Amino acid sequence: MKYFSDKLSSNLFKLVLLILLFLFNNGVEAQHKYSKKTLIGKGDLKLVGTKIKLQKEVFEHFKKMQKEALKSGIKIQIVSGYRSYQRQLQIWNNKYDKYILEGFSPKETIYKIIEYTTIPGTSRHHWGTEIDIIDANVKMPANLLSATNYNKKGIYNNLKKWMDVNSEKFGFYLVYNNNSSRKGFKYEPWHYSYKKLSKPMLKQFLKLNILQSVRNLNLKGSLFFSNKFVDNYVNKNMLDINFILK
Ligand SMILES: [Zn+2]
Repeated sequence: MKYFSDKLSSNLFKLVLLILLFLFNNGVEAQHKYSKKTLIGKGDLKLVGTKIKLQKEVFEHFKKMQKEALKSGIKIQIVSGYRSYQRQLQIWNNKYDKYILEGFSPKETIYKIIEYTTIPGTSRHHWGTEIDIIDANVKMPANLLSATNYNKKGIYNNLKKWMDVNSEKFGFYLVYNNNSSRKGFKYEPWHYSYKKLSKPMLKQFLKLNILQSVRNLNLKGSLFFSNKFVDNYVNKNMLDINFILK
């Protein structure tokens, strides 16, 4: 009889432990609610850093990764972290003017911009979880963020190879990877996301009425945001990313 009661209490103990583990794991992801303003780059997200700003937890994990990479002679430098709505708006409008000047039609121009650039309010850089990185131990080329720099024989290939092996240990994942079936934004071997925070932020972002917000924006070219364009943008540019981040 004692044997059975011991066995029962040990099983009960295991069950309680499992329930606690389950609650803990699920609680971690649901811990933070972000406001709409924060998710679209207009809020008061708590950030650290001076020139480059990030959420504190992201910054701390980045620092650890940076320290580790230095041991292999790679000096990871962030060239873009948090970006506000205003900053993304400037980038968008500058690109718009540039392509129009080059002779593209407004419709061609907006499709050309979204090869690499997000519509203001929809950038993952608004979340303080994203980093664009280079290797500061290498002499800067004119065009920093070009995929050829990170490919074989590219000046940032050592950085890329190191990140392929190590970045996930520190919580960072490529967003726009080189999976050939992926649509939307082109391959960005420089853009990493801190998954633990960006994944729940994407989930919350998708609950906002993106279609509505994007159409009401007062920015260059937005007159040409057709339903098809916006649908295409949400499904491909925002959602066709590294599946692990969804
Ligand atoms: Zn980026």
